[in-house]
Amino acid sequence: MDAQRVLFRNGTVITMDPALGDLPTGDVLVNGQVIEAVGPDLGDVDAEVVDATGKIVMPGFVDTHRHTWQAPLRGIAADWTLGQYMTGLHLGLSGMFRPEDTYAGNLLGAVEALESGITTLLDWSHNVNTAEHCDGAVAGLHDSGIRAVFAHGGGAHMYQVPSTVKHDEDVRRVRDEYFSSDDQLVTMAMALRGPQFATLDVTVHDLALARELGLLVTMHVGDGEWGRSRPVARMHERGVLGSDVTYVHCNTLADDELQIIADTGGTASLSPDIEMQMGHGWPATGRLMAVGVRPSLSIDTCVSNGGHMFGTMRVTLATQRAIDNQQPGASDRSAVTLTARDVLSFATIDGARACGLEDKVGSLVPGKQADVVVLDACTPALSPLNNPIGQVVYAAHPGLVDIVMVAGRFVKRRGAMIGGVAQRARDLGIASRDALFERAAAADALAAARIGGDWHPEPLVTSSSSPELA
Ligand SMILES: [Zn+2]
Repeated sequence: MDAQRVLFRNGTVITMDPALGDLPTGDVLVNGQVIEAVGPDLGDVDAEVVDATGKIVMPGFVDTHRHTWQAPLRGIAADWTLGQYMTGLHLGLSGMFRPEDTYAGNLLGAVEALESGITTLLDWSHNVNTAEHCDGAVAGLHDSGIRAVFAHGGGAHMYQVPSTVKHDEDVRRVRDEYFSSDDQLVTMAMALRGPQFATLDVTVHDLALARELGLLVTMHVGDGEWGRSRPVARMHERGVLGSDVTYVHCNTLADDELQIIADTGGTASLSPDIEMQMGHGWPATGRLMAVGVRPSLSIDTCVSNGGHMFGTMRVTLATQRAIDNQQPGASDRSAVTLTARDVLSFATIDGARACGLEDKVGSLVPGKQADVVVLDACTPALSPLNNPIGQVVYAAHPGLVDIVMVAGRFVKRRGAMIGGVAQRARDLGIASRDALFERAAAADALAAARIGGDWHPEPLVTSSSSPELA
């Protein structure tokens, strides 16, 4: 780790900190791994100077839920229904993964995230069928250079719904072997199935295990019809909910369940583009805000949508505006309930809170870790820069990400990833993809599996009691 100082000079600084605010012109000084100072003009300092004139300096994005292992299968589900995703992916190609494929997927997915300005990623890892798969997943995150939370989610043997199988005990080894300290770039959480996939007794057990191991919990609830089974209310009746739980999706939870999340101090992770594509229901953004829960945002899966936060922010804002605009009196200015600043906050500091990292990342504040993104605002797409936050949310894209820094270390500069990691990730991802489809072709049930966009698996026949794994 470089222990040197770097000064981002003369940029438009978006701190996402209420006290520091936005600086139309400002400097950010990094010393080693941490931010030393933020101000309108830090003067002459002994540091490497990065000229940020015409650029936006902001905190890195935080993605609070991504099934990173799926990256080699990018795009194959663009025209699939949820039922096809279930058979083609979860009951199909997921079983073709060797540990080296899990490694390649996590490396590729994490590098993809980094390149687009996501500096913290919660890896919702639910295809670790063996200890070796798990080791591959952790190594992929490590080798990418991203700040990550590895959320241990077990493998297929835990997903015979409704499962009476307790969470994989290998989680104890992983905690001891890789995550004995919580003060490292990659930390750990538990990705629990919860009552939509496991019995309530198993869920209560799994929550107790997470707390025994001192790990935060992330859990899918309220996605689609199956989410109407009152998963949050049922857990609450057992008295097991707390501020250490992040609820993923939440679309079809009842209002009183959202209130339970608020009352127990929980956090939320929304993936609006996937939720609408897969039929989970309208994003719960506004309903959560109404009970005082500021959601975080997540990419979920790259087998259909893109892996960057710009798209997700845009869909988040657009869907809530659409919902608001259907309300009576919507032509009134008061119909705008959600702002671009809210959405950027979801994608940064609120995400940091969901990951338990609000003291370390999510805003540009002295003393915090230096996870910094610089966007090129000189492009015609962002010129003139009249409303920096509005334009970041509505008009920016990964191609404008000029610099990415994680813990004071440059991982992307002058628009390019550093150190050959992007090429290595791409090469491994393609090789893994080829191997996955080669093995699939040899398996009777997946004989039709192919790339190109014209493979449409038979959908899982769903009913109100069917699982939804997205
Ligand atoms: Zn998910």
